[in-house]
Amino acid sequence: QGTDELLGLDKFTVDEENAHIVLDKTACAVCNDKPCLVVCPAGLYKLNDKGEILFDYAGCLECGTCRIMCHQLKQWKYPTGTFGVSFRFG
Ligand code: SF4
Repeated sequence: QGTDELLGLDKFTVDEENAHIVLDKTACAVCNDKPCLVVCPAGLYKLNDKGEILFDYAGCLECGTCRIMCHQLKQWKYPTGTFGVSFRFG
């Protein structure tokens, strides 16, 4: 099985009210490296046509990689209660 197929098995219960990861858009605007674009295994960080970071926390695997690679995040915490990812391995 490929990674995409396996990711497709996971179940996400998204807390629409509370983002568990919050970006600092001002910091993103002046960040040259933008490691988030390459390190997130779920590919949740993208660039729009203006070169700004777009981020959707809904598919987060809670791996913590962006927390380590980006020192500018306003917030990184695990989703509360029953929210977040449930890993299923097929
Ligand atoms: Fe991506 Fe992992 Fe950060 Fe979630 S915690 S946004 S899966 S790098």
